[in-house]
Amino acid sequence: MPSRPRPLVAGNWKMNGLLASLAELVAIRDGVAEGRAGEAEVVICPPATLIALANDVRGTVGIGGQDCHPALAGAHTGDLSAEMLADLGATYVIVGHSERRADHSESDTLVRAKAQAAWRAGLSAIVCLGETREQRDAGLTIELVGRQLQDSVPDGATTTNLVIAYEPVWAIGTGLTPTTRDVAEVHAFIREKLVARFGEAGAAIRVLYGGSVKPDNAAELMAVPNVDGALVGGASLEAKDFLAIAGVY
Ligand code: PEP
Repeated sequence: MPSRPRPLVAGNWKMNGLLASLAELVAIRDGVAEGRAGEAEVVICPPATLIALANDVRGTVGIGGQDCHPALAGAHTGDLSAEMLADLGATYVIVGHSERRADHSESDTLVRAKAQAAWRAGLSAIVCLGETREQRDAGLTIELVGRQLQDSVPDGATTTNLVIAYEPVWAIGTGLTPTTRDVAEVHAFIREKLVARFGEAGAAIRVLYGGSVKPDNAAELMAVPNVDGALVGGASLEAKDFLAIAGVY
């Protein structure tokens, strides 16, 4: 069996961040250099407007995009290709975030094509999955997550080109989190499916938990079996909070 993967703590700044926000990235970079993120690999996904500048000051912090178009180039006004993100220094890209699935009606098929585009450009894809409140209440969580995992993740995943982020939609930005038991159940299910599909690689592909991770709940959530790190939204905007979360490792 492969050893446990290095944990990953990734910050998703969403549509937040002006030039002045790079000061937070510099503070995160310095905190990581001081050892405040422990053993964790740390990545920040700023808005695309900041990727090039973020890359100039990142230190050992990885930089990711928040979305990419499946195509290499062409007539897609306002979109960005994975190659453009890589060109600016990004090494990761989030695909299938629930806000994009909801705001832009993104299907699993499209998310899968975006993950493939990420791989084409040499990026690691952070593929997001997760149920709505209604789906959880109807007992559909496992079925839904299983379908998203099957349909949003392309064949050929490896420990370096894929990260899964389980993010219950109802936990994002709400201050609500599932119980550790519920997190454990879903992560164990995702692990089982990854191993069934990708063999040994599936045992070591990182599966992040996301949804209202804060400094005061991070240690408990990150200790759940098969949780290999966190995807952090709101609490990644302030270096102090983000480093406190990464610091649980
Ligand atoms: C997210 O947007 O991926 C997220 C987890 O947000 P928050 O941490 O704010 O719930």
